[in-house]
Amino acid sequence: MDTMEKITSLAKRRGFIYQGSEIYGGMSGFWDYGPLGVELKNNIKREWWKSMVYDRQDVVGLDAAIIMNPKVWEASGHVEAFTDPLVECKKCHHRFRADKVEDGKCPDCGGSLTEPKKFNLLTEVYVGTTEEGKKKAYLRGEITQGVFVNFRNVVDSTRVKIPFGIAQIGKAFRNEITAGNLTFRSREFEQMELEYFVEPNEKEAEKTFEFWKEARMNWYVSLGMSKENLRFRDHEEKEKAHYARKATDIEYKAPFGWSEFEGIHHRGDYDLSNHNLSYKDEEAGKEYTPWVIETSEGIDRSVLFFLLDAYQEDKDRVILKLDPRLAPFKVAVFPLLANKEDLVREAKRVYNLLRGKFYVAWDARGNIGKRYFAQDEIGTPWCVTVDFQTLDDESVTVRDRDTAKQDRVPIDKLSDYFQNKLGV
Ligand code: ATP
Repeated sequence: MDTMEKITSLAKRRGFIYQGSEIYGGMSGFWDYGPLGVELKNNIKREWWKSMVYDRQDVVGLDAAIIMNPKVWEASGHVEAFTDPLVECKKCHHRFRADKVEDGKCPDCGGSLTEPKKFNLLTEVYVGTTEEGKKKAYLRGEITQGVFVNFRNVVDSTRVKIPFGIAQIGKAFRNEITAGNLTFRSREFEQMELEYFVEPNEKEAEKTFEFWKEARMNWYVSLGMSKENLRFRDHEEKEKAHYARKATDIEYKAPFGWSEFEGIHHRGDYDLSNHNLSYKDEEAGKEYTPWVIETSEGIDRSVLFFLLDAYQEDKDRVILKLDPRLAPFKVAVFPLLANKEDLVREAKRVYNLLRGKFYVAWDARGNIGKRYFAQDEIGTPWCVTVDFQTLDDESVTVRDRDTAKQDRVPIDKLSDYFQNKLGV
């Protein structure tokens, strides 16, 4: 089995990711997150929001609607940019205008191409209650436009001043020709984006671009992703999106090759100009259209890459070495023996004590070895065992996932012990 097969099977078996609508045969490009998957995904989003919004003074948040007036997508260039007859490479998934490909092979990697299709990435929906009154709209193809159309609202209703950023997390939809590699290329997916507005000058934009490039790369490393599995890749002129003056991807070394999971884009004034929006600098007495540096991360791809990166095998043991901040459960609590009433009662007490503060797993099945095995496989950083000594001295054993080392900790110090470890 290759690593993708192993991760796909673990994801399903342990409740991280399921095929969407599976009991009806599934639907290509749609995925559901199970009880552990939703935790991992929420933890990634929480860490991102913290680093983008709470840890900074110059960024505010936003949550715009998924369906917008279709005029937004005309102004943004998406209706036009997404309706050419296109072919897509079956191997690297790069798309080309059908009339630009000469020998029927992918110009980038030589792979074979799909048939040309009049191709609109935007997913159409119809809004309205009566058949006659229904209006065509689109599910957003990127979350970005919701930020731009609210640019004036945010400036007028808060105290932000250029340079500043607007952060947003939300779902986006694209009619991808070929979905695949688990959640990597989905038709419904989630993005986390920062649109950072600067004065329109090259020096300022360049400085900001470089700052965010480094900051975003460091964020993944700080959450435990291996440096050697990450790299930057600058876009060549011909592959840049219609809005981008400059673009660099952060790529992960996936089992199916180096793959983009975050884009840093210099969008210039493309969007604000198209929406006829500008910024008044009252102090300096000038008005201009700001430029935008964007960081755009696909959460589903991040979940997949954090899982792949954390996956390790030690003989027949599987360990998900997720950073404790991302791990679905922080702690698991067990009674040493499930049939000793005193131990179960005391373990339940410890479980309830920790539960309000951390997401805690309870497990009383099988023997201790099997429980460690199961918790390692879902990435739980610490396991607490209530044993006979606990009944004498109110202390428990805490076993560390990565080192398998065991500490003896008094029950009344347990919360502090984990809080320290988590740095919260
Ligand atoms: P690709 O070239 O792989 O199609 P893209 O360049 O079109 O991606 P962007 O428009 O820059 O992607 O979107 C920003 C981020 O959103 C991507 O880096 C990726 O993480 C995520 N993303 C885009 N399309 C998808 C998709 N179909 N499924 C999952 N995530 C996606």
